[in-house]
Amino acid sequence: MKRRDFVRTIGTAASAAIPARLLSAETGKLHIVSLSFDDGFKKSFLRIAEIYEKFSLSACFNIIASAHMPGNQVRDDYMKQEQFGDFGAWNELQDRGHEIMPHGYRHAHLASLPPEEAKDLIRKCIDVFSKELRGFDAKKAVFNFPYNQSSPELEEWLPSVVMAFRTTGGILNPLPKPATVKITTGGFGPDNAEKHVDEYVDKLLAQPSGWMVYNLHGLDEEGWGPIRPAYLEKLLGRLREIDSVRIQPTARVLMQAKSGRFAGI
Ligand SMILES: [Zn+2]
Repeated sequence: MKRRDFVRTIGTAASAAIPARLLSAETGKLHIVSLSFDDGFKKSFLRIAEIYEKFSLSACFNIIASAHMPGNQVRDDYMKQEQFGDFGAWNELQDRGHEIMPHGYRHAHLASLPPEEAKDLIRKCIDVFSKELRGFDAKKAVFNFPYNQSSPELEEWLPSVVMAFRTTGGILNPLPKPATVKITTGGFGPDNAEKHVDEYVDKLLAQPSGWMVYNLHGLDEEGWGPIRPAYLEKLLGRLREIDSVRIQPTARVLMQAKSGRFAGI
């Protein structure tokens, strides 16, 4: 099945649920949940995709552009070289309807580099995505800062390169507007993050409306602040039962905002 067909299939499934969603929107309640998985852990990401697919949902994956290249400079205590996937895997997940977005070229702490060097690394990251990820369009992409660390200069420059960026800040964002370019996020680690995720789900649902962008990494023992597959499945199943909740990847949420979808909520 081609990606376009799959997206259409998902769209059809989503429209079947529209009456309840519209109803909740009419009552002023809309809770968007984006679990934003970073780095590119192959085993975890394939499993996460399978779990999302059980509910006909699209997951949100953010990939370090050079992590699959021999001799790369990606270095962090929470990432082992053999854990990374490559663009063969990422294209397949995209074909299955999941969102694949950039998370830096070599996972550098961009805010602490000279701005021109940081911009070069972001351009290199976008170049790899343009070459390796089928149909990639930077103007529809969310750049996810490594360590969620940005600088005012990079934040001002990035909207000329990509649609939006994700950086540190509150996990609960307001519903995006057509011109939204900055998404904020947070997470918990290095140990299991489930309790913290639950707390933020409760906080989101206690508000009239909002957009939770929670930064996660891998499953079980992979990545910083992992969660268990069984927990993820239970969480998605629970959230799917709540009329006001939509579970969507970040760029898709922003594209809807651009079309005026959340106006008046
Ligand atoms: Zn990362």
